[in-house]
Amino acid sequence: MKAPPFQYHRPQTREELSALLSSLENAKILAGGQSLMPMMNLRVLAPEHLIDINRISDLAGIRETADGIEIGAMTRQADVLSSDIVKARIPLLIRALEHVGHIQTRARGTIGGSCCHLDPSAEQPAMCAALDAELIVTGPEGRRIVPISEWFEGLLQSALGEQEFLEAIRIKPWAKGHGYGFAEYARRHGDFAVAGGAAMIKAGNDGRITRAALLSFGVEASPRRLSDAEVALIGQPIDKLDIEPVVTEARALDAMEDVHVTAGYRRHLAGVLIRRALHEACTTLERQP
Ligand SMILES: Cc1cc2nc3c(=O)[nH]c(=O)nc-3n(C[C@H](O)[C@H](O)[C@H](O)COP(=O)(O)OP(=O)(O)OC[C@H]3O[C@@H](n4cnc5c(N)ncnc54)[C@H](O)[C@@H]3O)c2cc1C
Repeated sequence: MKAPPFQYHRPQTREELSALLSSLENAKILAGGQSLMPMMNLRVLAPEHLIDINRISDLAGIRETADGIEIGAMTRQADVLSSDIVKARIPLLIRALEHVGHIQTRARGTIGGSCCHLDPSAEQPAMCAALDAELIVTGPEGRRIVPISEWFEGLLQSALGEQEFLEAIRIKPWAKGHGYGFAEYARRHGDFAVAGGAAMIKAGNDGRITRAALLSFGVEASPRRLSDAEVALIGQPIDKLDIEPVVTEARALDAMEDVHVTAGYRRHLAGVLIRRALHEACTTLERQP
């Protein structure tokens, strides 16, 4: 099937983009098109106007700022994956991106597109949640910063207003030497995950945990931080971790059911995968003050 008719717009600047978003009704931004075009071809979506932002070159790129690492919304997933800055400072994102689609889809697909589309199984918004990212958004009122905790508003629904666009994602990297781990279950490599988990930990010289981030995704409609378990890990010795509260919290999530798996099986996977992610985080951790 082919997409229904639409008018095509190709702004060259952010200002032109803002003007189009303010004046057009039923318009959609086109980034990498890896989610939007299939949805249009299947006629799940039928925007009257398509605003292609691929020519706005300053929406792409990765840079270090005083407030953290900013990844432009139009940065291709392949470019994030090969970025030396991201490899050195946000290794969890690299671990996760290796599981996103295929070489071909990563060459077109953007990190911003994934964070706006918000598939519950998408690795990139999930890692943004684990990393406490901030979303830099521009709209008619100017620029605003949205903490990731306020970004998810439900299935495929972000906090982005109709006349707004995502400019960049800002991540404050954890200190060097932190532990990180990622695990997901997908039916085939490159498929969307049925469920997944991510963990980050930091420990002092005494080998006790001083900071923890734990996250399950693909289980509920939006990625979920396991906040009680994060608190329970603080102060625990790395070599004698009580992992059961972590697994218990993951298994208590309000899991989705679909044609592939039952809610019960997804809850089971959530427990298994967060255990694996945390185990990997312990093995990558370097002890430091
Ligand atoms: C075969 C295949 C396998 C895939 N596997 C995976 C996978 O395993 N994991 C995974 O996470 N994803 C997967 N994807 C999806 C892929 O990661 C997409 O690239 C991503 O979901 C959307 O990014 P995009 O740049 O293509 O956005 P588009 O498809 O162009 O846009 C997606 C949505 O975001 C909006 N949007 C895009 N950019 C902006 C912006 N800057 N501001 C405001 N709104 C914006 C669009 O209007 C649209 O609603 C797969 C896709 C394919 C085709």
